[in-house]
Formats: sequence, structure tokens, C-alpha cells
Amino acid sequence: MPQIITVSNQKGGVGKTTTAVNLAAALGALGHFTLLVDMDPQANATSAIGVDPNNLEASTYEALVTDDPPKAHVLQEFKNIALLPASIDLAGAEIELLEQEEREFALKRSLARLDDIYDYIVIDCPPSLSVLTINSLVAADWVLVPVQAEYLALEGLSRMMLMIQRIQKRYQADLKLLGIVTTMFDGRTNLAQQVLEELRRAFPEKLLKTMINRSVRLSEAPSFGKPIVYYDPRSTGSEQYLELTREIIHVCDEETRARARA
Ligand code: ATP
Ligand code: MG
Repeated sequence: MPQIITVSNQKGGVGKTTTAVNLAAALGALGHFTLLVDMDPQANATSAIGVDPNNLEASTYEALVTDDPPKAHVLQEFKNIALLPASIDLAGAEIELLEQEEREFALKRSLARLDDIYDYIVIDCPPSLSVLTINSLVAADWVLVPVQAEYLALEGLSRMMLMIQRIQKRYQADLKLLGIVTTMFDGRTNLAQQVLEELRRAFPEKLLKTMINRSVRLSEAPSFGKPIVYYDPRSTGSEQYLELTREIIHVCDEETRARARA
């Protein structure tokens, strides 16, 4: 059974897609066969990994609105990763889902039809509390929340925590908070340091140790259609995403072991 990780925060532009793409690529590079699922109609994760969202045979749209098994594209140029891309049709899926029964479970049902070949599934979410985001959280074992250390970061996070609790109560009691990851960190500013302290105080157990610094290499990699471990393997961004990935693998493994003991 794969570990399913949804990268989510209702706030826009906090590094969800960058984290989902680079986590998936790093999991693959470390030898874990991983499926990246793009649930955002913006299709940023799809293009960041070098696939044109305008020219697709199969996508998350079909996965959500049909009963066919999802058709993932194996990405030959990167190690151990497949992609279930987003197409622009995905925006229309929201409306079609409104007519389905148990519409919150459409992605979960679809992923259950995949061949059992993946170690990890990483899902990228849109920046909203839409039915697509709810589907992404309901389908997951884990939610990873990227946050930028800036003004009002904590307010946004408490809204996200309420959302997770609501999903746990209504649809998916087993959803677990994997952690909060600080992205685009700029340690030179007092504000960033201050917000980081607040985050540590508010989430002592859940703030992940690895932080992702702001870096030009990370922001330019998507325009080359490459995850950072392939675009610039020796960069700080590459090292930090590999380190974050090892930390995440450790959290998942610990939980699996604890469950085996119970
Ligand atoms: P949306 O809510 O629109 O889906 P998002 O949360 O997925 O946004 P990203 O697209 O990952 O956020 O990042 C927003 C912008 O910041 C992008 O242009 C991205 O390239 C850039 N970015 C992300 N992480 C970093 C970083 N560590 N250093 C520099 N730029 C970054
Ligand atoms: Mg995004």
C-alpha cells in the first residue's frame, strides 16, 4: 500500500507545487516509485515536470469523472516517477462532481483502481477549499502543509488546521498531519525569524526540522520542466528538498512501525 501525501494550504503561492514536485522527484531519486497527482486546474505541477497540460490523453479530470482506472504517464527522463497530470478540463470537474453522489470520495475511489506499484503518491492541491482540495485530503493518509514565514502565517495555518479536523471528523478519520514545512525562508529578515519562532511555539511537534530557503534556482527550475534534483543537483534547494524528503520518509516509516507494533 502506498503512503498518500497531499500537499495543501488554502493560501495561494506558499510553495505547495514546488514542494509536491520536488518531494515526488526526490522520493524517486531515493529509490521509491512515486506517482505525482496534479489536482490543480492551474496545472503548475504538470508543467513543472515537463508535461504540456494542453496536450493530454488522460488526466485527473478523467480520473475524477469516469470509472476507468487512472492512466499515469511514466516519466522516462526522471527516476521512478509517474505523473497523473492536470488538464484545463479539471476546472469543469468541480461542476460535474457536484452532481455525483459521495463526490468527496471521487479521487480516493480512483486511486484505489491503480495498480499496486507505487511506494508513495504525492498530490498537489489548488489554493482554495474547493471540492478538488477536499477530494485530495479525503484520499490521503497524510497532509503536508507548506507555509511561508511571513505576516499572518499563523492565522492562515489555524484555518488549515480547522479544515483538517473537519475532514477527519466527516470523511477520513485516518488523515494525519505529516508536518508543516517552512518554504521560501529568508533568514536575513527579522520578520522571518520572528514568525519562525512563533511557528515553533505553536507547533512544537509538527514543524519539520528541514526548512526550504528562498532560492533563484528553485524558482527557475519549473520553466525548464525539471525538478531541482535534476535541474541543479548540487544547489542548496536540491539538498534541502532531499533532506526534507528523508525527514518525511522517516515520519512515514515510524508510523508504519508503530502501527505494526500495535
Ligand atoms: P498556488 O497556490 O498558486 O498553487 P503554490 O502554493 O503552489 O501556489 P508555488 O507555485 O510552489 O506555490 O510557488 C509560488 C512561486 O514561488 C512560484 O513562482 C515558485 O517558483 C516560487 N517559489 C517556490 N518556492 C520557492 C523557493 N524556495 N525559492 C524561491 N522561489 C520559490
Ligand atoms: Mg500550486
